[in-house]
Amino acid sequence: MTVLLGDPVLEELRQILGPEHVLTGKADRLNRARVPAPFPVHRWAERMPDLVVLPASTEEVAEVLRLANSLRIPVVPRDGGTGLTDGAVPLRGGIVVDVKRINQIKEIDLDNRTCTVGTGINALKLNEVIARHGLIYPDDPASYPCSLVGGRIGTSGWSLIGSRYGHTRDLVLSFDHVLPTGRVIHVGDGIGRKITKSSSGYQLKHLFMGHQGTLGIATEATLKLFPKPEAELSPFWAFEDYDSAYRAVGALARAGVATFAGAVLFDEWKVDYLRRDDEAYIPQPSSVKALVCAAMYGYEDEVRAGGRRLLRIARSLGARYLGDEISEGDWAARHDRYATPLHGRTRSGQVVPMSWHCEDASINYTNLPAVRLAWHEIADRLRRESDVFDDWGMFAYTNGATGADYLTEIDIGIWEQRLDDAAWEAWVRAKRDLAAVTLAHGGSISACHGSCREGEVDLVPVELGGGYDVMLDIKRAIDPNNIMNPGKYLLDQAYAEKS
Ligand SMILES: Cc1cc2nc3c(=O)[nH]c(=O)nc-3n(C[C@H](O)[C@H](O)[C@H](O)COP(=O)(O)OP(=O)(O)OC[C@H]3O[C@@H](n4cnc5c(N)ncnc54)[C@H](O)[C@@H]3O)c2cc1C
Repeated sequence: MTVLLGDPVLEELRQILGPEHVLTGKADRLNRARVPAPFPVHRWAERMPDLVVLPASTEEVAEVLRLANSLRIPVVPRDGGTGLTDGAVPLRGGIVVDVKRINQIKEIDLDNRTCTVGTGINALKLNEVIARHGLIYPDDPASYPCSLVGGRIGTSGWSLIGSRYGHTRDLVLSFDHVLPTGRVIHVGDGIGRKITKSSSGYQLKHLFMGHQGTLGIATEATLKLFPKPEAELSPFWAFEDYDSAYRAVGALARAGVATFAGAVLFDEWKVDYLRRDDEAYIPQPSSVKALVCAAMYGYEDEVRAGGRRLLRIARSLGARYLGDEISEGDWAARHDRYATPLHGRTRSGQVVPMSWHCEDASINYTNLPAVRLAWHEIADRLRRESDVFDDWGMFAYTNGATGADYLTEIDIGIWEQRLDDAAWEAWVRAKRDLAAVTLAHGGSISACHGSCREGEVDLVPVELGGGYDVMLDIKRAIDPNNIMNPGKYLLDQAYAEKS
């Protein structure tokens, strides 16, 4: 689709939304084409929408989709644009639906402890309001200040304090969802908005969560609230080797302490990387090779008692507590850890501006050590091939209080301005290899961002097996004209089969 000034589509959209909410300028379009995931700078123009619309309600979104469906125009939903797997990047031009104007808090229900919001709001803004009622909405990604509720639904996001409160899929009770045909449905348990458990029918809430905008657009969501925690404790420990830290993080997660919200394991590559410029929080003795941080939330009495138990467990496994100041500072920095554009180093140690890129997977505790070594080998290979890449180390976050699976993330610095076609190909190959290691160890290619980016996406059918064929059937049934985010998750195959 290429829209020309005076085009009837433009005119119709202006009628639906008001002229000021239909954007055609190059800067407006480019600003909504990019996400933080790296892509060769010389190819940015390949991923530009034809226009951007800013609807203010579910009805306006429905009218836009109805029009796009009748004319077969691609539509890409966009919330904060912080997604790391290219989900909000338009691959086929068309219309970007930016939902940031749908950001009202419609209801705060203190008795049922829920709130209903437009999906263009984020947890930071919401929490500023509900804190006045002594409540919290605890979806807490590292992108907390800038990702929005709709994008969290679109990716089925991971919360860093999910062991205590659950992840996006647990915290969003129900939502209005606009189908690609423009029909509006409400998905969630029960007939009301606030039921948390029902066994009637199919679990549509989960179908319409994490689909990366390929099945429609979420516009209004009802969220679960919790009492605002009275106390927070985030002890941080140093270890002389990875294996001890690994044993300790497993023991902390398995201890069954009710206020436990999560633990993070940093490996030696990560410790080295953080040491480069961030001496305030990272202990300097070179004997420190790994770090573990735990977080607890709840009432003062519970947190203090639970904390004593965790400190005892860590000490018994060789941990050195780093003190209150470092502990509190590091956990508080969880939302701004990635604002580090000058952390890149060439092989000779020269500082260069690199963008952060991460590959994430869900890995069982028992497979973490093997996956870690295999992933670093892939990063090493890249680094030997080209100065465009730098290994920024690995994190592993616990998932459930059982400590069974971990969000495992390798961070790679990429000198994006130097990302020519050859380096891009090497990177795509590496992503495919990282995903293959995950599958070989029984994991899932993504635990939070989704997996629709070049390279890794090739292995999604392998991960899902027969489930991927069902995914093709569902896509074709719900989006008969393939207007929703076409090209993502290789779902075009659904339509090739049909003809
Ligand atoms: C510094 C940083 C740290 C991060 N840390 C985390 C983390 O800890 N945990 C985590 O889960 N993620 C993390 N992410 C990734 C990202 O923030 C999440 O994927 C987030 O859920 C995306 O939200 P968004 O509002 O930015 O969505 P967008 O990037 O705008 O969209 C993401 C996907 O959802 C689709 N979508 C957007 N809006 C809607 C809608 N209303 N209805 C249906 N589909 C929609 C889009 O088409 C796209 O496919 C991080 C990203 C950054 C940059």
